[in-house]
Amino acid sequence: MNTEVLTSSPAQAQQRDAALVQPQDAVAPKVNLMGMSRQELEQFFEAMGEKKFRATQVMKWIHQFFVTDFSLMSNISGKLREKLMARCEIRAPEVVHRHYSKDGTRKWVFRVGDGAGSLVETVLIPADDKTGARKTLCISSQVGCALDCSFCSTGKQGFQRDLTPAEIIGQLWMANYSYMEEVAIAERERTVTNVVMMGMGEPLLNYDAVLSSMQIMLDDFAYGMSKRRVTLSTSGVVPKIDQLAQDIDVALAISLHAPNDALRNELVPINKKYPLAELIAACQRYLAKDGHDSSRRHVTIEYVMLDGVNDQPEHAQQLLKLLKNLPSKINLIPFNPFPHAPYGRSSRNRIMAFQKTLSDAGFVCTIRQTRGDDIDAACGQLVGQVADRTRRAAQWKKKVEQQHVIMRSSS
Ligand code: SF4
Repeated sequence: MNTEVLTSSPAQAQQRDAALVQPQDAVAPKVNLMGMSRQELEQFFEAMGEKKFRATQVMKWIHQFFVTDFSLMSNISGKLREKLMARCEIRAPEVVHRHYSKDGTRKWVFRVGDGAGSLVETVLIPADDKTGARKTLCISSQVGCALDCSFCSTGKQGFQRDLTPAEIIGQLWMANYSYMEEVAIAERERTVTNVVMMGMGEPLLNYDAVLSSMQIMLDDFAYGMSKRRVTLSTSGVVPKIDQLAQDIDVALAISLHAPNDALRNELVPINKKYPLAELIAACQRYLAKDGHDSSRRHVTIEYVMLDGVNDQPEHAQQLLKLLKNLPSKINLIPFNPFPHAPYGRSSRNRIMAFQKTLSDAGFVCTIRQTRGDDIDAACGQLVGQVADRTRRAAQWKKKVEQQHVIMRSSS
């Protein structure tokens, strides 16, 4: 049984309130406060007959001091602490592995779900400068992914389920906490400076949970992150980009990877539903929403460099044309091959030439540095382990085996 309170929809609020008024017994599920936004916590405390301000107190304990034990919450009355201990819990997903790379990159593998469950991964990437002050956390939003982009190892595993808000924000909580386990509560400071919703899954297909998690990231009583430091990366779910523009002000990144529809249909199949013209128009509407005072001054374009596939001079020219009227920064990502990947990484020279064409035309164009190679934490290598309900993993394995047979018989 799912014990998380995920949203404040009427049905779920009713369930939550019922849990509060019913007599508690040994098997009663506890309400997990980890994934609740401020508004949800306020409703929660009001339903308990408590004052709304308890929400901000508890939020600070959870997300600023990384305290999960109600008995340590010293500004809360003993009676309320007892009530909370009996009925609630503060629980991040379980960490099953931690990997630390030589270059400072860290990776956590979380178990989500009941029993053996599935595994999802989160990566913390320190800036490659002397200060190391910027620490960017790449967060997963789903167990697996339904979109099957042809260059992506997560896509090869199929889709199992959406992560809950507690499982999403829990990744940020754990990344911060793991730096501070030995630090006294009063001296704790957050470590993660930037978040990108760019791990496993398509965040806009788990919209409510991702929105609620990002609200907690921006909330001054939780992580208080600047809206420019929280980025949502999407493969292009156009209607949800419009909805996002209405609901929250965060930075937007597009996993573009191809400059024309024919190639993008192949690499990013959701393009068949929302082709490039619609996607670019949605990005323009997103930027136009709040003018220049918001985080929406430009869109980040992610473009994975696949050898001989999308890295030719004509592709760079097509990209220039496509982005002509979209304020954008382009991030070229050297492909990180995974076992049996159907693509290779573009050569350094090819990537540099591609970058030069874009830079000469006035675009800010960077080449992403590959980090965490020794712990399989590089971009596109987040594989986790998914109980695949679509059987895509088995189909993929069969296809690869067939290819091997063909290669062996032709050699
Ligand atoms: S690239 Fe992103 S959207 Fe595409 S299959 Fe991988 S996780 Fe899903």
